[in-house]
Amino acid sequence: TNTLTAMVELVFIVVIMNADLSVRRMMDVEMRKAVANGDFQLHYQPQINEAGKVVGAEALIRWRHAKMGNVPPAEFIPLAEETGLIIPIGNWVLRAACAQLAQWEAQPEAQHLTMAVNVSASQFRQPDFVQSVSEIVRLSGATPSKLKLELTESMFVDNIDATVAKMSALKAIGIIWSLDDFGTGYSSLSALNSFPLGQIKIDKTFVHGMLTNVPNMVVTEAIIELAGKLNLQVIAEGVETVEQLNSLREAGCLNYQGYLFSPPLDIDAFSKFLSPEPPRIEPVSRHQLELP
Ligand code: C2E
Ligand code: MG
Ligand code: MG
Ligand code: MG
Repeated sequence: TNTLTAMVELVFIVVIMNADLSVRRMMDVEMRKAVANGDFQLHYQPQINEAGKVVGAEALIRWRHAKMGNVPPAEFIPLAEETGLIIPIGNWVLRAACAQLAQWEAQPEAQHLTMAVNVSASQFRQPDFVQSVSEIVRLSGATPSKLKLELTESMFVDNIDATVAKMSALKAIGIIWSLDDFGTGYSSLSALNSFPLGQIKIDKTFVHGMLTNVPNMVVTEAIIELAGKLNLQVIAEGVETVEQLNSLREAGCLNYQGYLFSPPLDIDAFSKFLSPEPPRIEPVSRHQLELP
């Protein structure tokens, strides 16, 4: 009976694997269509400083599929990384974000904004990564020092020299490197010193755990202090409550991103968030003014 159980299990596994495979194949086909049709969109999540001012935005990809509805990036980005589709998608994201950045630079109320763009590991590993990023930025007309590229600790694991070389080449033209989801990876604190970073982004699990978990709080405070000593800017992601905001501020983190301020917004909503229309004062009608 043991063999029988094992066989039944095996059959199940094969059935599930095939189902999974066909879902992935279908997703891949749909993604290819989306790339060809330009079905992706960027949303922008405001980044706020200690004075409550919008200082920049993170560009986040959005895919609204006719039948599947909104497909979250966490579902399609990993697959796109496996199939290689992340290369055309990533290039599109960078072009669109740089075009938007250049537009902001032409608007008085948006001139100061920076733009953060997520870069995936396989994008970064492309031999022509440096060349293609600098080309895209140059053609967009955006100021390179207003562009932040977000990478994750997973890219710090192998080929350290090559990684440092690529990062340095783009830093040399002004681009700022931000270490995304900091604290979730496996790199040591010395990584902060070994790579030409300009910013670290404290992961939302730390931000959320800070208030309830003392070790978490202590680690977060230590990271912020160390970053300060290394001249790295610190931004916290996933800030959802005033309590989180206050403890981050007390710990010395002065830049924030999260639902407390705003979710990621389409460009129209972002513009409104940036320059809200003054509250409309209802004209008082003559009738109301008339004395009885
Ligand atoms: P990420 O870069 O760490 O982006 C932050 C994620 O947290 C976003 O999810 C954002 O919508 C979400 N978020 C923002 N504020 C809050 C908050 O207060 N609370 C909580 N719980 N979440 C918040 P999103 O847009 O679904 O993106 C998920 C991930 O997908 C991103 O994580 C990033 O790794 C990846 N991604 C998104 N857009 C791109 C892209 O254009 N290229 C690449 N390579 N990856 C992308
Ligand atoms: Mg990010
Ligand atoms: Mg992040
Ligand atoms: Mg994250």
